Amino acid sequence: KTAKRVCVVGSGNWGSTIAKIVGFNAQRHAHIDDKVTMYVYEEIINGKKLTEIINETHENVKYLPGHKLPNNVVAVPDVVEAARDADILIFVVPHQFIRTLAAVLLGNIKPNAVGLSLIKGFDVAKGGGIDLISHIITRHLKIPCSVLMGANLANEVADEKFCETTIGCKDISLGPLLKDICETDYFRVTVVDDTDSVEVCGALKNIVACGAGFVDGLGLGDNTKAAVIRLGLMEMVKFVDVFYPGGKLSTFFESCGVADLVTTCYGGRNRKVSEAFIKTGKTIKELEEEMLNGQKLQGPFTAEEVNYMLKNKNMENDFPLFTAIHKICTGQIPYTEFINCIRVHPEHM
Ligand code: NAD
Ligand code: 13P
Ligand code: CA
Repeated sequence: KTAKRVCVVGSGNWGSTIAKIVGFNAQRHAHIDDKVTMYVYEEIINGKKLTEIINETHENVKYLPGHKLPNNVVAVPDVVEAARDADILIFVVPHQFIRTLAAVLLGNIKPNAVGLSLIKGFDVAKGGGIDLISHIITRHLKIPCSVLMGANLANEVADEKFCETTIGCKDISLGPLLKDICETDYFRVTVVDDTDSVEVCGALKNIVACGAGFVDGLGLGDNTKAAVIRLGLMEMVKFVDVFYPGGKLSTFFESCGVADLVTTCYGGRNRKVSEAFIKTGKTIKELEEEMLNGQKLQGPFTAEEVNYMLKNKNMENDFPLFTAIHKICTGQIPYTEFINCIRVHPEHM
């Protein structure tokens, strides 16, 4: 059997971090090909191409400065070239870019390739609903797609600080290979088969993190933040129950559930920018550009996608936290109304 080839499609803060892990594992496992390609959306940094900088210095100086990537990770600016020979495609771009990438890749990958999506977010679907990103990948590229989500702030993982993560994989026979590709001493993987719930957790917690940022911006306390986290969790559980029935409650106790919710509500970018949104009066877009140096926020977009569906189904009032966060991010209601929107929550009735 020949060794499996892996391509990391994406090279942002998390993309570069996972490339570091995959590169390390490719070297130590015989059944994973040493060469790992990483698709890099090309840009010029101080007059030089980012792909050239990465291939010469083995550091993504823009999105993961201060961390060396293994030498066997090769940055490639053309996604088709990066993905062509891959048996495993790891998708890790901000969710707003996945459709375009999938369109470019269609017909240009190995027909028996498999996907692993690390992307947190949804896409809006025709007819008033939403789509999971892994489902978009499967539909557009005609390959199965597992997911990896967890309490994984990228910089901490890149620092090799101990954490856990969850892989959701319907074809359980694939589990061991995906685990070998991703697991290290400091990055512990649990594989479950409740794939949709894993992915929905990863997407929705970014909305709740905006609420946690509002709490900080408003100068409210830890109790308030805990209430927002709990109400967010209850809305996440309800969301899976209503829109992805058949999910297991136990999935919320994996790293992708409560743990990711907690870390993002304390240490994530969505929290940070949402706090600044209240303190500065600037728009989310302005703050994303000012504060994140090219990294992308997923929470406000995800709130918009979720609201698109809830509004269409006349269910905004069933998810008052998600709804309030979307309306505050988009200026439809003042942030001073945040607590009033959740004061009388269905969970309190
Ligand atoms: P990021 O936020 O660092 O985003 C920047 C990346 O987007 C860069 O690689 C940039 O080149 C790329 N980009 C910009 N414009 C583009 C375009 N038009 N087409 C394609 N790419 C473009 O990215 P990230 O942190 O790697 O996040 C990717 C996904 O991983 C997101 O869904 C995020 O929620 C998830 N995630 C992030 C973290 C984290 O801590 N950063 C942790 C877990 C999951
Ligand atoms: P932020 O995008 O809010 O930084 O969250 C990162 C994350 O998904 C941690 O698991
Ligand atoms: Ca190898």
